Amino acid sequence: MTTERDPNSDIDIEALARRYAEEREKRLRGDAVSQYQHLEGKFATFDADPNAVPDLVRDAVIREVDVLVIGGGYGGLLTAIQLRKRGVGTISIIEKGADFGGTWYWNRYPGIRCDVESYIYLPLLEETGFVPSERYARGEEIYTQCRLLAEKFDLYRDALFQTLAESLIWDEKNRRWTVTTNRGDRIEARFVVSATGLYSSPKLPGIPGIETFEGPSFHTSRWDYGFTGGSADGDLVGLHGKTVGIIGTGSTGIQCVPPVARAAAHLYLFQRTPASVDVRGNRPTDVEWYRAQPPGWQRERMMNFTQWTSGLPQAVDMVSDSMTDLFREKAVSSGMEMTPEQREAAEILKMERVRQRIDSIVENKETAAALKPYFHYFCKRPGFSDNYLQVFNRSNVTLVDTAGQGVEKVTPRGLVVGGREYALDCIIYATGFDFMTSYTRESGLTVKGRGGVSLDERWKDGVHTLFGMQTRGFPNFFVLTIVQAGTSINYLHTADAQSIYMADLIAHCMSNGIETVEPTQEAEQQWVDLCVSLSADRHAFFEKCTPSYFNFEGKRPREFELNSPFGGGPLAYFEYLEQMSANGFAEKLEFH
Ligand code: NDP
Repeated sequence: MTTERDPNSDIDIEALARRYAEEREKRLRGDAVSQYQHLEGKFATFDADPNAVPDLVRDAVIREVDVLVIGGGYGGLLTAIQLRKRGVGTISIIEKGADFGGTWYWNRYPGIRCDVESYIYLPLLEETGFVPSERYARGEEIYTQCRLLAEKFDLYRDALFQTLAESLIWDEKNRRWTVTTNRGDRIEARFVVSATGLYSSPKLPGIPGIETFEGPSFHTSRWDYGFTGGSADGDLVGLHGKTVGIIGTGSTGIQCVPPVARAAAHLYLFQRTPASVDVRGNRPTDVEWYRAQPPGWQRERMMNFTQWTSGLPQAVDMVSDSMTDLFREKAVSSGMEMTPEQREAAEILKMERVRQRIDSIVENKETAAALKPYFHYFCKRPGFSDNYLQVFNRSNVTLVDTAGQGVEKVTPRGLVVGGREYALDCIIYATGFDFMTSYTRESGLTVKGRGGVSLDERWKDGVHTLFGMQTRGFPNFFVLTIVQAGTSINYLHTADAQSIYMADLIAHCMSNGIETVEPTQEAEQQWVDLCVSLSADRHAFFEKCTPSYFNFEGKRPREFELNSPFGGGPLAYFEYLEQMSANGFAEKLEFH
């Protein structure tokens, strides 16, 4: 951190640096990522899907297909759509939920919205004519768009819902993957695309006694409207007269706190680390403006956003929101790409404004102080809300700040912090998801490639891929993830580029009589080496950050050494993928 005083403000940079370091220190724990518990074993009941068709029974499916897509969220949908567009043979889609939607199927908590502008987040808007009703779309509208896409591209007939793919075994003789599921299905596929999602494995905090609580408790991604009543739009009548505890103040907590506060007799919000909560500025879509956009506008807008948020200034900032303004202010004044020093200064100023905003909204000074985040802006995914901070002015809301230590214990009656028990009728866990720790654990898949080698064995010294998608020894197998892939803050921009790459490559194989494709040893190693060399700055930055899923809770285990996004950024990454297609996949891949 620079020690200069910022001439434009009264910020004491040195004191702030000390405060950031102290706050980080407070939160570091020896158990790091293993502090969390997964929705399995004694916590499996937390994984029950409130929206599933109960007791679904169907015959096992025995099928041969050209491409099997695992996951019906946007990643899987985009891949299947791109394959359809290229007329690639037969497709099957396996999805754990009862419908398409992925994250937007599972997460239906009250207040849910996308924090990326809808005009760049919702895919294929020009092709489908879909008009998002607001600048930041409600979750339900996004879920609806997922289903409309599946209908438009005729994907329902190919989908197996409420089905978990369990094992993928490569059959070298037949050059096919044999995929089995928890419903006894057996699918032989030439190609398999695993799009099981970035935030698909919910986690519970490692607080002793979770299973002992006697009232209802659930994770936000399995919201129990049977108990709370109401809908994602609020009106949670089931909470009238109830005392509710919410654990977690990430983007999900920020969004679900206001509707719960409006309905419950009392809400206790248990905070470990305060979030940065910036201005949202949502508004209805100006349909006239929307319809007047020229052809190609959506891709141009997506690219413009990714350029700005990669620190690459453009003549105009099309999205121009709280996500891009950090980059805009500094870059416009210097007229060029931001230097690391400029970026740091901009981040400090941004966080100072975020803290000032709290003082201007929250009336109780002690609560306001406890809500202030002390870490670099990009240490955690920034949050946005125009109604979260306001709830702390309500008499029925209490912030229980745990001073970075988290909740101590769950009892049959409630939660314990600082030795005090808070009696609760319901506990809601807004505690997030596994992220970039283990692909096979998060996806629940056993994958065995050539020679029966499992992906876990192959990756025991870290993930090895070409472009984050393909691994040598696992022919015709693709993973949609951000590990070793360049990602935009707008993940759907990345998923769009990846789905096009995969569909182009699969179509190339199918139309040229190619049976197998995998990276050459050399290309894979070069990509891994490039990822390692380019991730040094990222790791150095995150090592100084307050613990979060971005930095493996402050302690990156050796086996996660390679689990990071491609450090060259999304723009360079997209170029790599485009070049591969443009030169007919002439390099880096081995075909048979
Ligand atoms: P997060 O992982 O971001 O937040 C989890 C929260 O739980 C943190 O506040 C964490 O505190 C807290 N927590 C964990 N353990 C304990 C404990 N023992 N005691 C007290 N508190 C605890 O999860 P989210 O669901 O909020 O977000 C997940 C991802 O989904 C994020 O990337 C987010 O941006 C994204 N998302 C995106 C949305 C969108 O609009 N597109 C909307 C919602 C989520 P601590 O910070 O100290 O670890």
